[in-house]
Amino acid sequence: MTVSPKLQLQQLVDLQRIDDQISEYKKILADIPLQLESARAELEEKKNILKVVTDEMETLQKQRKDLELEVQGENDHMAKAKTKLPTVKTNKEYTAILAEIDAIKEKVSKIEDKELEVMEILEAKAKEIPGVEKKCKEEDANFNEYRLKKEGEEKRFKQELEELMAKRKNISDQLDTATLKQYEKIFNSREGRAVAGLRENICQGCFQQVLPQTVIEVKIGEKIHQCNGCMRFLFWDEATSVPK
Ligand SMILES: [Zn+2]
Repeated sequence: MTVSPKLQLQQLVDLQRIDDQISEYKKILADIPLQLESARAELEEKKNILKVVTDEMETLQKQRKDLELEVQGENDHMAKAKTKLPTVKTNKEYTAILAEIDAIKEKVSKIEDKELEVMEILEAKAKEIPGVEKKCKEEDANFNEYRLKKEGEEKRFKQELEELMAKRKNISDQLDTATLKQYEKIFNSREGRAVAGLRENICQGCFQQVLPQTVIEVKIGEKIHQCNGCMRFLFWDEATSVPK
């Protein structure tokens, strides 16, 4: 099967165009899991406010329990002091025990004040919870919406990538093995660009000058040329060439 150089060059240009799209789609597909991962981390960070509030409440509840136990201890202490009263022999002893009881009472009152304070803070924190929970639910919903959108994109791009691969196979099957091999070799060694446009007499791949005779032949398209500088296949870049 002999294919005209013109057609073969067109096939190379088409192959490059498809390969460009393939790299673009592959990049998009590789980015999607990263985007989801970062959105998930952001979600966890936002939802951490609930944990902060519940942790604070746990600490306060423990504090309240400790204060309760302290009151209990002081009350036991006071009961014990009171049992000593009927057995005292002197006024001095009696006054001392009453003073001890008063001191305990004062201490208990102070602890109870503190307990009340803690309870008030706890109440305020408890009131924050529904709002925080609502916010967390909203964040969950937002994330799920984003995830579904990204999964939809992923599915669509995978499908389109498959179609591109089929198109690519179709074109590469038409090229002769040597040209295809050459294309792939340049593609891999030249940042994924195996075809370069020729504008005026400059290769747009490496910006080196091309010989006048080569320019004419590339323009006519009856012979396949590769740039001497970068080895890329040259095509006449009509659309972007400055008209004379
Ligand atoms: Zn070049």
